[in-house]
Amino acid sequence: GEALAVSARVAPLGSRLVLLLVEDLTEARRIEAVRRDFVANVSHELKTPVGALSLLSEAVMGASDDPEAVERFAGRMQIEATRLTNLVQELIDLSRVQNDDPLEDAEPVRVDELVVEAIDRCRHQAGTKQITMAAGGTADLHVWGNRGQLAAALGNLVENAVNYSPARTRVGIAARRVTAPGGDLIEIAVTDQGIGISDKDKERIFERFYRVDPARSRATGGTGLGLAIVKHVAASHGGEVTVWSSEGQGSTFTLRLPEAGASRDRAHQHPLLD
Ligand code: ADP
Repeated sequence: GEALAVSARVAPLGSRLVLLLVEDLTEARRIEAVRRDFVANVSHELKTPVGALSLLSEAVMGASDDPEAVERFAGRMQIEATRLTNLVQELIDLSRVQNDDPLEDAEPVRVDELVVEAIDRCRHQAGTKQITMAAGGTADLHVWGNRGQLAAALGNLVENAVNYSPARTRVGIAARRVTAPGGDLIEIAVTDQGIGISDKDKERIFERFYRVDPARSRATGGTGLGLAIVKHVAASHGGEVTVWSSEGQGSTFTLRLPEAGASRDRAHQHPLLD
């Protein structure tokens, strides 16, 4: 599949159309494979926190005369609940990237709304770790695309930033417009002060199911699909996602997406945004 997709890109002009179709097909197959693998994995992954919650609630009931034990069990229940929430969120994201043509219902999407949604999504987890989240530069910026998919992409980046950072650190989200030959782009950068990613792993983290530390990732409900979804959404919107990271110091994931420009989509412009 991957080899076909690559050869399509270097094909001579004459056979371009056919090869583009081939590329589309392999991409569709790739997504279908992700979905199949995910459904197989997720049912197994869901069992773990559900089983733990059931045992822990029994433990709480048996420890009603020991407040300290109750608190300890409740803390673990909270961790398992977070894990469950993250898994369900991943299911939601995956269903959002299912439609064949993501740009069919593309519209101008306000960057500040995407950012608020992404922050809301991990507010609880950030709160328990006392992680500060701050956003800047988002005012008056609009990207062009499928709202649900864009929310899934940014949500995953912010969620990872929180997941892979120690307590009492900062997660920053900064947006800006960048001039580019093919039309202006909107750049949204998510920066954390977390564990960082080695150069070796940087090349692989966008692959589906790849996790640097499966044990740690699983503890937070990670399935290794998040960045594959982000990459897919970016590419299908004509954008890209890149990473900068320094091990032990933190990471910045940058999402570049086409701006919802006046000339490109005036006809589709949402009345409220004028
Ligand atoms: P997961 O569900 O495991 O978070 P992702 O596809 O979102 O899967 O990420 C793949 C892997 O990349 C993670 O398991 C983690 O090892 C690494 N990773 C992703 N984001 C970050 C980050 N902000 N800081 C450090 N490591 C990260």
